[in-house]
Amino acid sequence: MKIKILIIFICCISCNYELKKMKNPYVVILGTAQDAGYPQANCNKKCCVDAWEGLNNKKFVSCIALVDPVSNEQWMFDATPDIKFQLYTLEKISGLNPLNGIFLTHAHIGHYTGLMQLGREVMGTNNLPVYSMKRMENFLKNNAPWKQLIDIQNIDIIRLTADSIIKLNNRIDVTPILVPHRDEYSETVGYKIRSKNKSLLFIPDIDKWEKWDVDIIKLINEVDYAFLDGTFYKDGELNRDMSEIPHPFVMESMKLFKTLSNHNKRKIHFIHFNHTNPLLQNNSKERKEVESNGFNIAEEKMIITL
Ligand SMILES: [Zn+2]
Ligand SMILES: [Zn+2]
Ligand SMILES: [Zn+2]
Repeated sequence: MKIKILIIFICCISCNYELKKMKNPYVVILGTAQDAGYPQANCNKKCCVDAWEGLNNKKFVSCIALVDPVSNEQWMFDATPDIKFQLYTLEKISGLNPLNGIFLTHAHIGHYTGLMQLGREVMGTNNLPVYSMKRMENFLKNNAPWKQLIDIQNIDIIRLTADSIIKLNNRIDVTPILVPHRDEYSETVGYKIRSKNKSLLFIPDIDKWEKWDVDIIKLINEVDYAFLDGTFYKDGELNRDMSEIPHPFVMESMKLFKTLSNHNKRKIHFIHFNHTNPLLQNNSKERKEVESNGFNIAEEKMIITL
C-alpha cells in the first residue's frame, strides 16, 4: 500500500514537472550546419564521405524555432533549404501546425531559400508573416521567384528595425541586432529572444567579433543562452583564402571567451558548422576540446526552455 502511494506521489511530481516545463516558451534547434548543409554538394572528401554513406549523421542547415505552448504559437528563425524536414521535426516536437511566422537573418542561400516551399507549387501559405529588415525586404520584393510570394500573398512581409523590439505576445519578444557580414544582397541580423524569465541570443553568421561595434562579452553576460557562429574551427580549414569569407573561428572565440566565468561559458552553443568543421564529426578531439573548455555544441532537436 505504502509503495503504491509512493509511486502515485512520484508520478504526480513528475507530471507536474512536465506540465510546468511545457508551460514555458522554448526554443528548438532544427539545424546546425552552414548554408550548404552536411554533407556538402560535390564533396567526397573525408569530411563528408561518412555522412554520404550513412556512417555519420547528416545535419540540416542552421535554424531554430520558438514555441509558446500556452498560446499555441510557433515561429522559425530562417527559412533554410531543409525547411520541409525542419517543419516536420518542429510539428513532431511542438504538436503545433501551422507556423505563425518566420524571422529572416539575411539573404545568403541557407537562410531564406526555404521560402520557396511556401509558394503555389508547395504549401500555398496565406499571408504568413515573414519578418525582415529593409534591404532583405527589398531583395524579396524585387527578385523572382520571391516576388511572387508577396504578390499572391503567400507571405506578408513585416518590416523590422534594428534594436527595436517586436512583441509576439504578452510573454515573448524578439529584437533584431545588426551584425557585420558579407552583405551583398541584404543587411544581416542576429536575434535576441526574450521570455519573462530568460533570453537567448542567436547569431548564426557574423564576420570577426572585432569588426562588431557591440561588445559580445557584455551581450553574453546579459543573456541566458548564446547560439553563436561556429562556421570554421580554425584557420587553414579550407584550401582557399579564408579572409574572403570571414567568420570568427571557434578557436578564436574560445580564446576571446576564455576569461568568462564557467556559468557564462556554458551559455555559449556553437552552431552553423561548415562541412569541414571537425565539430561535425562524432568523438573528434576538437569536440572534446570545446566541451572541456566549458562551451557547448548545438545539436538538432535540442530544447532550450525559456
Ligand atoms: Zn550562413
Ligand atoms: Zn566535406
Ligand atoms: Zn551568410
